[in-house]
Amino acid sequence: MRTPTPEETRQELLRRATALGLGPVGVAPVEGDLRQEYFHRWLAEGQHGEMGWMARDPERRANPGQVQPEARSILCFGLNYYQPEPHRRGRIAKYALGKDYHKVMISKLKRICDWLRELGAANRPYVDTGPLLEKPIASLAGLGWQGKNTMVLNREEGQWLFLGFILTTFPFPPDSPQPDRCGTCTRCIDICPTRAITAPYQLDARKCISYLTIEHKGAIPDEYRRLIGNHLYGCDDCLDVCPWNKWARQTREAAFSPRAYPDLRDMLGLDEAGFNELFAGSPIRRLKRPRWLRNVCIVLGNTGDAGDLPALEHAAADPESLVAEHAAWAIREIRKRLDLQ
Ligand code: SF4
Ligand code: SF4
Repeated sequence: MRTPTPEETRQELLRRATALGLGPVGVAPVEGDLRQEYFHRWLAEGQHGEMGWMARDPERRANPGQVQPEARSILCFGLNYYQPEPHRRGRIAKYALGKDYHKVMISKLKRICDWLRELGAANRPYVDTGPLLEKPIASLAGLGWQGKNTMVLNREEGQWLFLGFILTTFPFPPDSPQPDRCGTCTRCIDICPTRAITAPYQLDARKCISYLTIEHKGAIPDEYRRLIGNHLYGCDDCLDVCPWNKWARQTREAAFSPRAYPDLRDMLGLDEAGFNELFAGSPIRRLKRPRWLRNVCIVLGNTGDAGDLPALEHAAADPESLVAEHAAWAIREIRKRLDLQ
């Protein structure tokens, strides 16, 4: 049987990815400009905050060739997760409204790996947790360009994309990067409530609401509590305003459909077992109960009313000091707002 040409293999890759609901798809070379300098400076300035895994073995992270020395290509896949947000108190970032995307994406990547193995290639799939500089690699693969909010921006799909990667020994021809089309726009920078986008293309994670409500483990610093506003888990503000995102189409992945949740007031009554049950299969479960209730208190402090006070008073006696302290803060904020001092 005739060996397929690299271009034929590439077409087959696209066909298989599309059949799995993946796209856009691109190929990056293993060696390439990944803004390594920016990454090293970002780490040196501590802008990654408590995300210690980002700082672990930075040389390896900045050089995919060190992750799998025999790899010849990095395959990059996008998966659209856009969906309109449900109307309820407390905003959850759109990517976390449904089931945990890691499992959904990795099972698709494994199907691609099965096929690559038939071609004689060795492969390693990664979703989010791998030692890769994911956004610069996706840009190099032509999936889009990194917008001024640092998110990968695809011309057709916008920025509502999960990213998945396969390091493979199969030598696919690389794609060309897309030109930066942000132009003079600064909407994402202007809208950011905490000024986390410190300059175009530069994000100080420590100031970002996504980091503060998800990665940050302790008390929310005072200067950010009011600025977090109605954001319960993550933040989409800089994506919502991006003009390229207005053509977003709703995801076809049923797994990402928004779940129904009780009102914030009732969430305050969750014990650990109740929390784990409510968020089974959701990325929110990784937060664990104390951090979740911390966030609920912040949102209630910013948006709640007198009807929320009894539930908050109950939470102020929570054995978890993180919950109790944020509940007490929320009570003070509501009282101040309603002039109940
Ligand atoms: S996610 Fe929110 S807080 Fe973070 S940079 Fe974007 S607008 Fe700012
Ligand atoms: S909002 Fe404007 S500057 Fe920001 S990523 Fe979108 S196009 Fe670029």
